[in-house]
Amino acid sequence: MTRLLSVARHESAHAVAHEILGNRVRVVRITGRNRGFCEYAVRGRPDPLVEGISALAGHAADLRWSHAKRTLVPADGHRRVLSLGFRGRSLPTLLEMARGLVEAHAAVIDLVAREIVRGDLTGKRVRELMRGAA
Ligand SMILES: [Zn+2]
Repeated sequence: MTRLLSVARHESAHAVAHEILGNRVRVVRITGRNRGFCEYAVRGRPDPLVEGISALAGHAADLRWSHAKRTLVPADGHRRVLSLGFRGRSLPTLLEMARGLVEAHAAVIDLVAREIVRGDLTGKRVRELMRGAA
């Protein structure tokens, strides 16, 4: 349960970040003991900053909630950020931004995560939870 919840928080953080920063989540899913995914659509012109922060939000959630291990889930976001054209030395700054977002929205990220543990979540449900319409 704890492990699953950690993966769920990682994916939930990606989802909530995408929604807050203007992308549209389609589905969030746990696919194994150690991984899941958040499928989303970019709205309007893709913005590297939005993509970068959302990509690192999962890692930021790992850092916030996992006490023992620094990176519970592989830091998939780092590769994504570099593929967006950011330099390696921009990673700490982007990660701090992602951590700020995760901290500010920790309660809803946790709420969404607890539903992801029970099954796939649609973007519609993520938005309902974010509006407090649970
Ligand atoms: Zn991730």
